[in-house]
Amino acid sequence: MPTVRTGVVGHPIVHSLSPAIHTAALHEAGIDASYEAFDVLPEEFAGFVEKARVDGVRGLNVTVPHKTAAFAFAEERSEEADATGAVNTLLLGDRIAGHNTDVAGLRSALEELDAALPGTRALVLGAGGAGRAATWTLQQGGAEVIVANRTRAKAVALGTAIVSWEEFPDVLTDVDLLVQTTSVGLSEGTSPVSEADLGRAAAGRLGTVLDVVYRPGETQLVRLARSVGLRTADGLSMLVHQAAEAFRLFFEVPAPVEAMRRAAYQASERPERAS
Ligand code: NAP
Repeated sequence: MPTVRTGVVGHPIVHSLSPAIHTAALHEAGIDASYEAFDVLPEEFAGFVEKARVDGVRGLNVTVPHKTAAFAFAEERSEEADATGAVNTLLLGDRIAGHNTDVAGLRSALEELDAALPGTRALVLGAGGAGRAATWTLQQGGAEVIVANRTRAKAVALGTAIVSWEEFPDVLTDVDLLVQTTSVGLSEGTSPVSEADLGRAAAGRLGTVLDVVYRPGETQLVRLARSVGLRTADGLSMLVHQAAEAFRLFFEVPAPVEAMRRAAYQASERPERAS
């Protein structure tokens, strides 16, 4: 049994791709460490983290429903975690440090789509954890951001320009980039944007659609975006890149991204992308 332990904590955790991605990375990098999946109930989260630290767990990825608890639990936080109000990675040293690797993941996923940010006008759908990470990442990159969220107050709290959930299709023709961060799209065949609205936007200014949601097949939004000629990707590349950033934080070495990507594609039972 390796002495260095890492893992992911969530509930439920059985469908997480993280163990496959990180185990492949450890193997590729030749690091003698484990990556485990911990299924922990919300009321047991604090006790679990304390015990994990005592047991020598070096770092944890944190997923639903513990991201808010992890933010509160962290004794120190990175700039990204503070700016987005969300923590998805904990380093269990003398002090518990909270990080948000979704920011780096999103930045790399946008780079893979050749989405240049300075001067770009972007519409973000959603103002939950992923929406806040997207808004901050885009603004840091120099983009102008408009946010639409079903619950208006959460969009207002971001302090950016907003458009109502009902009216965002009118704005879609006048942005360069759409970043979709709501959980709509997790179920097969559902999309927060209609084909007609995407078609109109593609004939206007819209060029790129990043959906942060991923599921075994592609999301409906990605299928529709591709069918009207837009550059598009779902959340699998963001997942890989946020995992790579976590790996770098855990082990202080660069992550073997391509091995992690191969593992993610295999674990999600989809053919590898052609590039
Ligand atoms: P969250 O904090 O719970 O936020 C959920 C968001 O979805 C909110 O904006 C919510 O709007 C919206 N929403 C939910 N149901 C809706 C509906 N029926 N109609 C319109 N809006 C709806 O969750 P999160 O952490 O931001 O995650 C959101 C999604 O991103 C999840 O599917 C998650 O798996 C994915 N994600 C992917 C990655 C990656 O690496 N690819 C990373 C993080 C998250 P209200 O405010 O109105 O409730």
